[in-house]
Amino acid sequence: MKKLDYERPIINKVNAGMPDKFGMSTRVPVISHIEEVAIADIMEQFGSPLYVISEPCIRKTYRQAQKAFASRYPRVQFAWSYKTNYLNAVCKVFHSEGAWAEVVSGFEYTKAIENGISGDQIIFNGPEKSKEDLERAIQDGAMIHLDSLDEFYFLGELAQKLNKKANVAIRINLDAGIYPRWDRFGFNLENGEAWHAMNRIMLHEHMELLGLHTHMGTYITAVKAYAIAAEKLADLSTRLFRKFNSHVKYIDLGGGFASKNTLKGAYLPGTDTCPSFDDYAEAITSALLASELPPENLPLLILESGRALVDDAGFLLGSVLANKRLVDGRRATVIDIGVNMLFTSFWYEHDVLPTRQKSEQTENTTIYGPLCMNIDVIREAVQFPLLQRGDTVVIPRIGAYNMTQWMQFIKLRPPVLLIDEDRKIHLIRKKETYEQFNAMENIPEHLKSQ
Ligand SMILES: *Cc1c(COP(=O)(O)O)cnc(C)c1O
Repeated sequence: MKKLDYERPIINKVNAGMPDKFGMSTRVPVISHIEEVAIADIMEQFGSPLYVISEPCIRKTYRQAQKAFASRYPRVQFAWSYKTNYLNAVCKVFHSEGAWAEVVSGFEYTKAIENGISGDQIIFNGPEKSKEDLERAIQDGAMIHLDSLDEFYFLGELAQKLNKKANVAIRINLDAGIYPRWDRFGFNLENGEAWHAMNRIMLHEHMELLGLHTHMGTYITAVKAYAIAAEKLADLSTRLFRKFNSHVKYIDLGGGFASKNTLKGAYLPGTDTCPSFDDYAEAITSALLASELPPENLPLLILESGRALVDDAGFLLGSVLANKRLVDGRRATVIDIGVNMLFTSFWYEHDVLPTRQKSEQTENTTIYGPLCMNIDVIREAVQFPLLQRGDTVVIPRIGAYNMTQWMQFIKLRPPVLLIDEDRKIHLIRKKETYEQFNAMENIPEHLKSQ
């Protein structure tokens, strides 16, 4: 038998900058500035961790969205989804661009009024509206979006007592090919529930049916679903006209447009898969214009986009606390940003990026937050540069939902900054204080001496 050739073993240097099989660079990019302001300067002044919001980014994104729709359909109105980010400064930026308010609780309603929005520019959604909430909304002429028949009867009684006509719209859930279907909200279209409710509203002395509304879900990348929903609502509007000789004033397609974040388990990054505002607008407006809606009496098209308008404008800045080896040999980096500040890390593969170039070397790393709970994981496994304690990191694209769903768990919430169009920094929410937090508690007399 012939002896096998000897091959000398070699060590192959893995070049971190090489493209992967999708042609994408595996190099970890660095973000050192936000809107030309150096992150190092911001952190020196305000500490770590903290949130930063870019006003120029909000305005730019809003204008793109507005233009995408307004260039295709004559009557378009955005209503800012408060629950996506209800920091007053953020809402005010949207309102200054012309957005109305879309609220889902009495608390948000009060915020919208205090942010200078008049009742007739507030869309009041959600399954819970108290007696006081509804009375106020009736008086203010807000658009009350009915969620159930119980709410319909309750509102009817209140409007009658006040001897006022309530402005209402009906929230409709429908099959547009998006699963799981959010059929817990509003009235179902396909089983006839929505049509029944509309008839009741039309015959009610103290209600005026202004609009038809659906909000199908969130992070919907299938633009076709919007075309189907728009067509179904347009048909419903036509049916209403045939029976009652009356047109609805608006069709509201809710929110749900995806942002460029990458969902966990997604094959390609969100930056590649996220439809543009033009894609959504084309689908929706084509369906409306091709429907039997009368050209001389087109309803106002309302959009309640949240996530897609604000995600890109938010940044989290933080620092490395420690590096460790897990027992299986994996590298772990602990940072001072936990899931309490980054609720969306349960759904998204957020980028965690260095704020300055250290080395080209990266290693497969698990990134943990600082909380004493096992699920406080920011990234399960990511190629990450070898940062040391004290090095700073930035997590971009966190503007949606993180500043409303944040949890007060073992720590106080950090401050929130806004960078304005002149690159000036404003503190728009102070760091929470121990005193503030404790002031809400009360110790019963018998425990005071303990
Ligand atoms: C949450 C919500 C929105 C905003 O949804 P996004 O997915 O963030 O665009 C709009 N309308 C209603 C009724 C909502 O509940």
